[in-house]
Amino acid sequence: MKIKPKKTAIILLLALLISAVLCAQVATKTVYVTASGTKYHTQDCPSLSKAKEVIPLDEKEAVEKGYKPCTRCKP
Ligand SMILES: [Zn+2]
Repeated sequence: MKIKPKKTAIILLLALLISAVLCAQVATKTVYVTASGTKYHTQDCPSLSKAKEVIPLDEKEAVEKGYKPCTRCKP
């Protein structure tokens, strides 16, 4: 059976859409910042145990707000 060019284009487009959705899911990771800190952390970072207030954020959002990744927990 010969595949028509139009059908191939649709399959390629679908493959692109699926990979775009998968990439978007990987990109949204929750990280944690403290009210006074400048770094963002993973949930179980020892630096967070001393903090009075821990704020969850999307990693992307944390970077946009100027937070840097913690060097201890490497989020
Ligand atoms: Zn940390």
